[in-house]
Amino acid sequence: IVEISCLRKQFGQATVLDGVDLQVAEGEVVAIIGRSGSGKSTLLRCINGLERIDGGSIVADGMQVQPSSLRAVRRSVGMIFQSFNLFAHLSALENVALPQMVIHRTPKAVARANAARLLERVGLSARADAYPAKLSGGQQQRVAIARALALEPRILLCDEITSALDPEMVGEVLDVVAELARGGMTMMLVTHEMGFARQAADRLVFMHAGKVCEQGTPGAMLDHPATQPLQQFVQSIR
Ligand code: ATP
Ligand code: MG
Repeated sequence: IVEISCLRKQFGQATVLDGVDLQVAEGEVVAIIGRSGSGKSTLLRCINGLERIDGGSIVADGMQVQPSSLRAVRRSVGMIFQSFNLFAHLSALENVALPQMVIHRTPKAVARANAARLLERVGLSARADAYPAKLSGGQQQRVAIARALALEPRILLCDEITSALDPEMVGEVLDVVAELARGGMTMMLVTHEMGFARQAADRLVFMHAGKVCEQGTPGAMLDHPATQPLQQFVQSIR
């Protein structure tokens, strides 16, 4: 459902993605790991067209990702970030309802009903009328997940979505992600939570120096890293 070939991305003189090849099958959960600066965020941002690419190609849900297809691509490819980016002046329910109304032209009553159902799914029914400032970080991130799901993406990209959270709130967000994974959502997630990656991911992809250096099942990758960069990485996170 995602096919990336020979992807290149530069920022000025710096080549950040240097020939990335990666395929993701429908329903697959792929965790992307690697050192800071290895290009993980840039890769995700290229997939939903937040960055213009300098070479190679990305096909997502059957569409070539290019400037002329961005609107369609973003209907298929949802993305959740480290920062929650909720609208401060809207309640949790309104935050989830509004994008459906704007992007899918969903009637307000239908959008609100969908939003209520999604907030229930992320365990926040009781807080539907609360404004973001009155929610914990973990709750805000769960609203952000519900908002992404409301657009019914075929592929969900998650970039370190628990990194800004207090440790005690990480679990509640990862539980929601694990539930989505079990439900068959195609996901690519950048994460530093190796325990979670091991449990929830079908495959790990290790990025190094702008390339996919090594990939495989979480157990094989973390317990028996084949390449020296991954060996070093695994040691550094122990
Ligand atoms: P981290 O684990 O710290 O989030 P990352 O693997 O997500 O790292 P990226 O954010 O993809 O790394 O960045 C890869 C490289 O590209 C870095 O060297 C970074 O400084 C550079 N970079 C990223 N965004 C830009 C930008 N908008 N302009 C210039 N350089 C950038
Ligand atoms: Mg990053």
